[in-house]
Amino acid sequence: MTNDERLATNHQPPITNHQSKNVIIIGAGPAGLTAAWELARHGVPVTVLEKYHLVGGIARTEQYKGYYFDIGGHRFFTHVDVVNKLWNEWMGDELMLRPRTSRIYYDGKFFDYPLRAFNALFNMGLWRSSLIMLSYIRYKIFPYKEEDTFEQWVTNRFGKRLFEIFFKTYTEKVWGIPTSEIRAEWAAQRIKGLSLFSAVRNALFKPRGEQIKTLIEEFHYPERGPGMMWERVVELLAARGCKVIMNADAVAVTRDGDRVTGVQALVDGRPQFFPATDAISSAPLTELIAKIDPPVPPDIAASVKHLSYRDFITVVLILDKPNLFPDNWIYVHSPDVQVGRIQNFANWSPHMVPNPNTSSLGLEYFCSEGDALWQMPEAELLALGQRELEAIGLSYGARVLDGTVVRQLKAYPVYDAVYATHLAVVKQYLAGLGNLQTIGRNGLHKYNNQDHSMLTAIYAVENMLGLAQHDLWEVNTERSYHEEVRVNAKGKPPEEKPVDILEV
Ligand SMILES: Cc1cc2nc3c(=O)[nH]c(=O)nc-3n(C[C@H](O)[C@H](O)[C@H](O)COP(=O)(O)OP(=O)(O)OC[C@H]3O[C@@H](n4cnc5c(N)ncnc54)[C@H](O)[C@@H]3O)c2cc1C
Repeated sequence: MTNDERLATNHQPPITNHQSKNVIIIGAGPAGLTAAWELARHGVPVTVLEKYHLVGGIARTEQYKGYYFDIGGHRFFTHVDVVNKLWNEWMGDELMLRPRTSRIYYDGKFFDYPLRAFNALFNMGLWRSSLIMLSYIRYKIFPYKEEDTFEQWVTNRFGKRLFEIFFKTYTEKVWGIPTSEIRAEWAAQRIKGLSLFSAVRNALFKPRGEQIKTLIEEFHYPERGPGMMWERVVELLAARGCKVIMNADAVAVTRDGDRVTGVQALVDGRPQFFPATDAISSAPLTELIAKIDPPVPPDIAASVKHLSYRDFITVVLILDKPNLFPDNWIYVHSPDVQVGRIQNFANWSPHMVPNPNTSSLGLEYFCSEGDALWQMPEAELLALGQRELEAIGLSYGARVLDGTVVRQLKAYPVYDAVYATHLAVVKQYLAGLGNLQTIGRNGLHKYNNQDHSMLTAIYAVENMLGLAQHDLWEVNTERSYHEEVRVNAKGKPPEEKPVDILEV
């Protein structure tokens, strides 16, 4: 059991002597809404401010002419008990169990992913497979002495050739920088416990005494996408008298010395002040710090500017044929197209597609605000998506009927060479503001999925109510909860577990 799980099992029963508090939460994403839920459960008055017109944050469901889609495709999987319980409590039967099929497109071929030995061997051929083994052996005997970068770290474990096929191009699409510039910590966190040997072993057979838990083969998903769950939570919160105010952009967090006094917001464009005894923010740290009033010391303001993000565009194409391919999603590693991943929304849930004679695909482009992709007009993005779908061979002669584009700023906090130093500075400053806590993914600049974003929210509420003293920055430092977990004959997970190396 991880620390996160252990702590979460001590989940406190509600207490109700906190009526004098008045909490303002910035953001109605998974973290903000979970914090509101927990506060409401303890009888604490709370208001949530959300600047967008939809709840769910990055885990929202968007809609276009009755076609539902989410930002990236959100699998629901967790080993955090308390989160699992909340999902079930909120969704009941509407949280479906879905089969997973995914492949990698590289060099004109589709590789099963997770890898299957014979499929991989067949696609690569004997000659290339032998070169992969030779390259593996070469780096086992003569590894890079330094393991500072992603490229060095992965090459030392998999060899150069496999690194180039399965890691380099996709990782560079995701992060927009050469793998030689990505810190090794990123790989170490994501790929911990996996080696070429264990990958091949997994692809060939299940080791004796172990069985693969099915998280990698199936996952939970609400009928109409992740946003359906967050909309449900808002309804349940309303029934408990908790306000979630939409189109409410928090523009200033006012403070008196080291105490936050309230949040200034533009609600439908009109200024309104929300006094607070305590505040919780799930807004990106770069934005929050800039909103603190009076302003933070210059060194803090300078440090936070070094935190950076990767942005994300989904090009949704609606085509006139159903069942184009069986996958939920396909990773596109080929460098000759810009698309990084393709979602087939009907395979996530048939409820996502209103006309069963059509398909709705989400072509995902990783980009940075202001770059050529980000600035590309919608019509050009739709044309690019259509061209690339045809180039990969996934349209199967279907005609594009319609489409739309959704842009997501700050989809990924970037772990570059400087982020840790600057984050430590920001973290130390925030620790001094006693009644403000930051939670979630961008609130902690941590690569948290929904479950860990939610867990930080639960912990923040426990801290606020004096029930515990959690360090929110420590949540999700052990990635052992991750999706493919082997359990031994006694049902206990071993220390090191292989993870899904591509999931972002
Ligand atoms: C492509 C992609 C795929 C993913 N896949 C999965 C997956 O399969 N499974 C999974 O569990 N997780 C997945 N995630 C992660 C998941 O989306 C996040 O963990 C989760 O959304 C984080 O929740 P949050 O509340 O911390 O932040 P967010 O979702 O970012 O929500 C923050 C909210 O705050 C609001 N806000 C910001 N600033 C202000 C302001 N000034 N005033 C008012 N409101 C404000 C925003 O509008 C937003 O609604 C994925 C993420 C991405 C990018």
